[in-house]
Amino acid sequence: MIRGNILNVFTGDIYPAEIEVAGGRVSCVRSISGNFSDIILPGFIDAHLHIESSMLTPSSFAAAAIPHGTVSTISDPHEIANVMGVDGVRFMIDDAAATPMKFYFTAPSCVPATPFETAGAEITAREIEELLRMDSVVALGEMMNFPGVIAGDDGVMAKIEAARNLNMPVDGHAPLLSGDELCTYIGAGISTDHECVSPEEVLEKRRLGMKIMAREGSSARNLRDLAAAGCDFLVSDDIHPADLLEGYMDRILRRAVDYGIDPVSAVQMVTINPAEHYGLSTGAIAPGWDADFVVVDSLRDFNVKRVYIDGRPVAEEGRYLIRRRGGTRAPPGNLKCLIFQLRGWMSGLRVMRPL
Ligand SMILES: [Zn+2]
Repeated sequence: MIRGNILNVFTGDIYPAEIEVAGGRVSCVRSISGNFSDIILPGFIDAHLHIESSMLTPSSFAAAAIPHGTVSTISDPHEIANVMGVDGVRFMIDDAAATPMKFYFTAPSCVPATPFETAGAEITAREIEELLRMDSVVALGEMMNFPGVIAGDDGVMAKIEAARNLNMPVDGHAPLLSGDELCTYIGAGISTDHECVSPEEVLEKRRLGMKIMAREGSSARNLRDLAAAGCDFLVSDDIHPADLLEGYMDRILRRAVDYGIDPVSAVQMVTINPAEHYGLSTGAIAPGWDADFVVVDSLRDFNVKRVYIDGRPVAEEGRYLIRRRGGTRAPPGNLKCLIFQLRGWMSGLRVMRPL
């Protein structure tokens, strides 16, 4: 039983409540009376990230991300896929399973990123379909080949078709695409974009039904420019190890409030909004949802005091409480994978030291 002020992401109100948990899920939420200073939020979701940019394997990434209140990410493993194809994606999925963090993945749609590049692998439409059928895969990853979509390229359309046949969302990536070409791109079934750089671009895409991700990571930072335009999700896209030590979705929330976004809306952008779009079971404090919570001091500073996943405490005052199980072994004989894993371990040690 956990008691405190809860933020209800369905109604946007905050009130004292007790949360009952059974089997890792919320079984009941009751309003109570009492004075509580802390606020219980659903665990944060980063709706668009490339874990590889952190130089960490997913299991090491979890140890650094969870103390900052992030319980889930939707990750496009296209960086590792460009080096080692489907084997790389499977490695990320297997390694992610060694932690309590909820890693969801998208099937990388553009490997190689362009035909002009010397990539280590290619992912075909048939392989995309296999990946989409995996448990933790929730969408087709960012469709960077917008000229291919506009031209109706067979290979590109087959990948989109595979996702649509399975009722799965298709993520977009369409910088400055506008007018009739944007309509064709959206009409193909692409429902998100994280490349907007101006409020006008956000407005045009939202009017046509797209959901907009505002980026505030280590590479692109558009939140200040887009804050007033009305976005749907807050995401990092990329986060470097040194930045991850300083903060993660907690810091993005703090900045969102600094830039004028209503704190309750900001929390919805990292919880219920991505949860509903991608069909996740984490992202709200209500019966049947995963018992993933973040206890913060206020909706201004978002200082994370405690984190629960499946009803179990996993971080307290910046410390990760889970004993690490060492992640997944690289497939035997696969040198590229082993190098990536060793880099992950080494960066992981650096990340863990101050905790
Ligand atoms: Zn991206």
